[in-house]
Amino acid sequence: MVNPPSRKIDERLYVNRYNVHSENHLHVDQSKCQECRDKPCTFSCPVDDYVWDPELKRLTVFYEGCVECGACVVVCPYHKIALDYPPAGRGVNFRFG
Ligand code: SF4
Ligand code: SF4
Repeated sequence: MVNPPSRKIDERLYVNRYNVHSENHLHVDQSKCQECRDKPCTFSCPVDDYVWDPELKRLTVFYEGCVECGACVVVCPYHKIALDYPPAGRGVNFRFG
């Protein structure tokens, strides 16, 4: 029998600390976003970094909370997201793995 996780994901994310870099390390070419039917970046990111505005028809990227997992890069069907890790000492700091 598999033991249930000891803490929920939100509780785990809460203990992370950030040293936010001044430059966005998530590079998104939005040329295909309007025709991207499901917009998987908006529901695959564990910290909701991608928000689609249906009126403006564009994404807003909140890079500050990124945990550098790479999921958005993998799920984008048009390969329009590039993850450029922040410099050493910047970005997320995992306190408990
Ligand atoms: S998954 Fe890629 S193409 Fe689709 S909305 Fe997100 S960034 Fe744009
Ligand atoms: S790398 Fe992970 S945490 Fe960062 S924006 Fe992409 S999916 Fe979200």
